[in-house]
Formats: sequence, structure tokens, C-alpha cells
Amino acid sequence: MERQVVQRAKEAFLSGRARGLEFRLQQLHALQSMITEKETEICTALKQDINRSQYDTPLLELIGIENEIKLAIEKIAEWTAPRPVEKNLLTISDEVYVQPEPLGVVLIIGAWNYPWALTLLPLIGAIAAGNAAVVKPSELSECSSLLLRALLPRYLDKDLYPVVMGGAAETQELLRLRFDHVFYTGSSAVGKLVMEAAARHLTPVTLELGGKSPCYIDKDCDIRVACRRITWGKFVNCGQTCIAPDYILCEPCIQSRVIECIRRTLLEFYGADPKCSADYSRIINQRHFTRIMSLMEGYTPVVGGQSDPSQCYIAPTVLKDVPPHSRLMQEEIFGPVLPIVTVSDMDDAINFINEREKPLALYIFCSNKKEAKRMIEETTSGGVTVNDVMMHYSLSSLPFGGVGQSGMGSYHGKHTFERLSHHRACMLRSLNMESVNLARYPPQDRRRARRAKMALRSPLIDMSKRTLIWAVVATIIGMGLFVTLLVILLIAAGLNCTCWYWRGFYN
Ligand code: NAD
Repeated sequence: MERQVVQRAKEAFLSGRARGLEFRLQQLHALQSMITEKETEICTALKQDINRSQYDTPLLELIGIENEIKLAIEKIAEWTAPRPVEKNLLTISDEVYVQPEPLGVVLIIGAWNYPWALTLLPLIGAIAAGNAAVVKPSELSECSSLLLRALLPRYLDKDLYPVVMGGAAETQELLRLRFDHVFYTGSSAVGKLVMEAAARHLTPVTLELGGKSPCYIDKDCDIRVACRRITWGKFVNCGQTCIAPDYILCEPCIQSRVIECIRRTLLEFYGADPKCSADYSRIINQRHFTRIMSLMEGYTPVVGGQSDPSQCYIAPTVLKDVPPHSRLMQEEIFGPVLPIVTVSDMDDAINFINEREKPLALYIFCSNKKEAKRMIEETTSGGVTVNDVMMHYSLSSLPFGGVGQSGMGSYHGKHTFERLSHHRACMLRSLNMESVNLARYPPQDRRRARRAKMALRSPLIDMSKRTLIWAVVATIIGMGLFVTLLVILLIAAGLNCTCWYWRGFYN
């Protein structure tokens, strides 16, 4: 079954229709219509999957998707155009450029926590770049995945962009087949399996993985505002966000104030009982519920801690003085549990972060910009936001992705287009001026070799249109100045002669 779907996608790609700019635009417009026309159904599906609020789905997923479609439609002509590059003396009369071209058939494997954004954002880039794409949504967000499978063929080319359903076994089956790129979002453990399977075909991969994203709060910042922002980022989608702050690092002297501010914000956001709040989501399934509950074993929560397995409900929970080497601090929490680890100062926080795997995101709350920049310089992460959480994700001009264990390759906006394109080096020469080439042909002698070396070592010259226009303008201005100067000199010389003549006349 999977084999046939992939084979059809390959054949459809080879037909060449995905390459046409008009076709790409038409598919992107159709995807845009799908999002606007089916917003209510999409929100309902997510309500069923994780009890996500109907207001959160547009804010967290749909607006981002619409923005990226709009951007791709607006910029596609610019993105796909040949990009002239610098030339040297040997190639000065040639046409030399980089041509972005489609890779072929891309496999997009999505995760369940944001099932629309994690499949459609890569798909937008795949369409814009002229590829075919097989979309494999997560089996865990069942309602959303079923809806995606029903909707996509109604709006897009069925053969070029099919949806394949299934879990681990079906995904493994798919990965046995040959693709031109695999774009995977999910856990680091499965990411390794995906990369291993892709390596068998030498297929390049993009891995959007997870990890523990630290959040440092400096004692001198506005703790009340910092905690509001952190509370939103940590507990939205019930903590099931790859770039949610995983844990807080702060000095012991502000820990109680941090806890108090988070407690007050939670009351404001979700009321006295978050279980009754329409804005508070649920854990995706029993397996993840048990996993998160087991991470909390042995701790006495200072905020929250209540749970209800029948609803996969875990209250927003805060744990204080969590030991750095506890299990809770070894694996990604991916749930509504926020541990606080105390550090002695910013340097201690930097060491703490650097001793661990490179995170997907880093958050720094600090009113001293110089210090915040120092922390950025002395650490690494996929992305970083100062004085807020998750907001770097919202800008499609910023590449989104991990580093090290948190992933490889980034996307969003033009970055997705670039990621899913091959950048082909193109050089168009003529068969004239053969004498210029003689120096590189045998039989070689010292003089020929010297000439060939000189030509090869010649500096790169920017021959872009703008540079040429500037060169012409500069030449015209230069010549104008030269002529003006010459005229002034001639007039001056003429005046001088006249003066001498009249002086001579009167004398
Ligand atoms: P998941 O269970 O939905 O798995 C992701 C995908 O991998 C699914 O399509 C699933 O069918 C497939 N899969 C699962 N097991 C497999 C196997 N053994 N072989 C082949 N395919 C398999 O999602 P998850 O992995 O639980 O997602 C949560 C993780 O994803 C977290 O670590 C989170 O941080 C990360 N994540 C990262 C991003 C990002 O953009 N970097 C976004 C969302 C989630």
C-alpha cells in the first residue's frame, strides 16, 4: 500500500507538473483555502485530541500556517529565480548562477502535539520548492490526522501530496523506501531510527527533535512579568510543546517569589481548578500520562500536583529545589510539570546549560542586555529568546531548528524552501575565446603554468546587475568630473593668457 502511494508520488513528480510556478501557486492557494474554510473542523479535531481550546488552535497553529502560505505565494518568483554569483577572470564572459531546483519526493513525518503546523509547514516549503511530498501524520493525534487525510486530497493534487496513516510499523515500512529527503519531527530516540533508515539510501534528513529547554531568571529582572510569560509558555497545550521552557534556573533568593508569581498567574489564567478551565488541555494518552506522573515521584509539588487518569489530566505543577542529577532533569518532561533548579549566579547557570545536551531553545530573563548577550555568547541552543518564551518561533524570517541532540536542519519561511531545494551550480560557457584556455592544456611548461595559475588566482568579481549599474554610473560621474576639470583648467589657462596679453599690451 505505502509502496504504491510512494510510487505514484514519484511518477507524478517525474511528470514535471510540480515544477511549474503557476502550479505551485495554485496548490498554495488551495492549501490556504483549506485552512480558512475548515478552521472549525480543525479546531474541533484538536479539542477531541487534547482538549485544546478553540481559541488556541488558530493562535498556535493556523495563523502561522496562513502566514507562511502567504509569504511563499508572495516570494516564490524571487526564491525560484536563478541567483547570479561572483566570477573570476577565467569565467568573466560566462553565465554563472545558482539555480534552486526540487529534490524529488519528500517524506514528511509529523508529531502529534501540533499536528497541523508540523506537517503543513514543511509541506508549504515542499510545494514552493516544486517537490512531491508524502505526509505521514502522527497516529496519536487521531482526529486531526484523520481530518488531514480527508481534507488534503480534496484541495491538493492527490498523487503529488498523498497522506499515509499509521504508527511506528507503517513509518518503518515507509522508511524502507527511497525518498529524496526525509523531514522528521518527533523525539530524538525515533530521530536516530529515521536517520539510520535514511542513511541506507543516502537520503538527506531534517530532524526537528526535542530536549530540555532551560529558562534562566536573573534576580534583577521584573519577576512578575517574567513568570507570566513563562507560565503561558510552559502550560499552554498542557506543556506538550517542543520549545516550552522545560525547567527554571534561578538563584535561591528569588525561588519563593518565582513560585508565588507562577501560582498567581495560574489562578488568573485557569481559575482555582484548571480541570474545569476551557483553556487547559489534556495529556495526549495514558502512556504519556503515566510517564509524566512517574517523573514526579518522590517530590512534593509546591503548586498543583493533582491528576485524573480517566481524563489524562495533570494540573499545572511546580517543583522546587530539584536536584540537578534527578531523573526529572535527565529527560524532556513534555508535560505540565515545571522544576526549579537553583544556581549560584549567571555563570553557574551557563555551566549548568553547557554541561548538558544542546537544547532546542534557551530563555533568558534579564534586564541587563549586556549580560543577556553574554549568556547568548557563552551557550548554544537551536534558538534563543530573551525576556520571553517561544516567540522566536513566530517569526518566519528566523530559522527554526535544533542543534546537536535537539535536531539538524532548520525551516520556516524561506528556510524551508532552501532546505527542500537542491542548489544547482550552473555555468554556461561559449565555444569562443579558446586562446584563453590554452594555458591549462598540456603540454605544460613553466610559462603556461604561471599564466594558468594567475588566471585561477584572479579575485572574484561581483557581476550582478546592481554592481554593473553602479560601475556604469561611477564611470559616467568620473568622466563628467574629468571633463569639467579639464574645461575649468582650459578656461583658467585661457584667462591667464588673456591677462598676460593685456598686461603686455598696457605695458
Ligand atoms: P510521535 O509519537 O507522534 O512520533 C513522531 C512521529 O514518529 C509519528 O509520526 C510516529 O508515527 C513516528 N514514529 C513513532 N515511533 C516510531 C518508530 N519506532 N519508527 C518510526 N517512526 C516512528 O511524537 P513524539 O516522538 O512523542 O513527539 C514528541 C517529541 O517530539 C518531543 O521530544 C518533542 O520535543 C519533539 N517535537 C519536536 C518539535 C520540533 O519542532 N523540534 C515539534 C514537536 C515535537
